[in-house]
Amino acid sequence: MTSDNVLNADGALIIGAGLAGLFCALKLAPRPVTVLSPKPLGMGASSAWAQGGVAAAVGEGDSAAAHARDTEIAGAGIVDIEVAEEVAAEAAARIEDLARWGTPFDRDADGNYRLSREAAHSMNRVVRVSGDRAGAAIMAALIDEVRKTPSIRIVEGVTAVDLMVADGRVTGVTCRKLGDRYLEPLFIRARATVLAAGGLGGLYAVTTNPPGVRGHAMGMAARAGALIADPEFVQFHPTAILTDRDPAPLATEALRGEGAILVNDLGERFMRDIHPDAELAPRDIVARANFRQIQAGRQVFLDTREVLGERILSAYPTVAGYCAEASIDPVTELIPVTPAAHYHMGGVKVDDMGRSSLPGLWVCGEASSTGLHGANRLASNSLLEAVVYGARIAEDISGLEPVRSNLAPFEGVGWDQQEGEALEERLRNHPAVQQLRRAMTDFVGVERDEQGLKRALRIIADLEENAEGVTRSFLNMTTSATLVAAAALKRTESRGGHFRIDYPDKDPDWRNHTLMTLAEARAIRAGA
Ligand SMILES: Cc1cc2nc3c(=O)[nH]c(=O)nc-3n(C[C@H](O)[C@H](O)[C@H](O)COP(=O)(O)OP(=O)(O)OC[C@H]3O[C@@H](n4cnc5c(N)ncnc54)[C@H](O)[C@@H]3O)c2cc1C
Repeated sequence: MTSDNVLNADGALIIGAGLAGLFCALKLAPRPVTVLSPKPLGMGASSAWAQGGVAAAVGEGDSAAAHARDTEIAGAGIVDIEVAEEVAAEAAARIEDLARWGTPFDRDADGNYRLSREAAHSMNRVVRVSGDRAGAAIMAALIDEVRKTPSIRIVEGVTAVDLMVADGRVTGVTCRKLGDRYLEPLFIRARATVLAAGGLGGLYAVTTNPPGVRGHAMGMAARAGALIADPEFVQFHPTAILTDRDPAPLATEALRGEGAILVNDLGERFMRDIHPDAELAPRDIVARANFRQIQAGRQVFLDTREVLGERILSAYPTVAGYCAEASIDPVTELIPVTPAAHYHMGGVKVDDMGRSSLPGLWVCGEASSTGLHGANRLASNSLLEAVVYGARIAEDISGLEPVRSNLAPFEGVGWDQQEGEALEERLRNHPAVQQLRRAMTDFVGVERDEQGLKRALRIIADLEENAEGVTRSFLNMTTSATLVAAAALKRTESRGGHFRIDYPDKDPDWRNHTLMTLAEARAIRAGA
């Protein structure tokens, strides 16, 4: 470490600029904070791609208790009910924060929120923007607000690789920056470090997540010694649009909430035989049904024609746009769909203030495991969790002096489009990255068994030890992959997003959270 490449965050440091990171930064103002983003703000975050919206019991006749109860039922027996009740109770206040910062939520003529229905919610409860543009609109509003806030320093073109730990306390982060010195590390010291670098869907070959969201957050924290909770619980979305695009574009569940149905290429509406709620059954059940159809050689389609007709073009412009790119006319044609890795219920274990097991490290958003989602996230609870915990962490980080003028920008660091895109392409096409993603989809996917999970663990170990030309951040990916596969091998039952063909039932003895360190996951891997 030379003084050249050591920078000081002058306060708190937030790793990641999705909803969790930016919301926390705004809540910290006017206390100083530095936010790291590998890409320009708004790019590369799942948050900006969210379609449905934010779950909140703000409709007439709804209550936080009912929202918490639905969350608990969806979570398949391991939701921390107190967490669910508190998060549901805080929802209305956080929605008001988002509205105050400029989010143009859909409202009726009296100013009440227009609410969508999503699977496993007992009421219309999802606060939305222009039908399916919630994530993009929320992020645009927050980015505007962040840019006007002098206490927030944004650093673009920087990827965190390792957490720095001294005497058991996290003291900042080691990064790589774009530029010809990409391989030289940059050290950023901070009094408080907030990890908000998202989930791990991109570890899978078929995913709805942006390319940079590949388990770096959980991997980095686990390598630094943080305790991880429930890593085996990955949610697969049943209706990613089947095109040749990577990542796969999403067809929001709100479409099924409106009455869109799933059919196979024989025209059979198979969900009616599987669950009383048919297409609105919990996500894991619909995803598995679609998966089994495809395994049996069928194709699966979402049919919006009768229920939406031409209205899909104006009411769901994002989905209509994805269809147009793939030359599908959803007004007259079926939309081909497939299950895709979508959301990680597990992550870095945190307490009710977002504190991890490592002093000096807070974690929020999809990178964290708060106990809210249990084995299966209730739709649209993740944006809610991101804002609730982003706010709590800001409250918990005390003792930082307010600043009234702009924090000085970091010299020599920034986004370079050509280089950034070339790097992303190199990573996407790297043989080791491709093999890792294929192994996760094939053996740690919608359905799992002992043989496949052991095979995945051996592939991950081999890639970690022998792959050529990979960067340090690849180690964060293999670390996260190891945790997911090891915990999936250990949990000899099926629950929520984790389905074992060889243990297809829920087992009451497993009605608890998985708590795992990297050392344990590696020991399981060594025995595979
Ligand atoms: C297509 C899609 C639709 C969705 N729809 C909904 C919905 O309607 N409602 C809902 O509640 N949830 C939805 N979700 C889930 C939800 O969007 C995410 O769970 C949530 O946005 C996560 O927010 P976050 O801030 O934790 O992470 P993200 O928004 O993913 O942000 C992570 C940030 O960390 C950065 N980052 C990653 N690695 C590093 C690193 N090594 N160093 C520095 N920075 C890094 C990324 O570039 C990004 O800026 C959807 C997800 C997807 C993919």
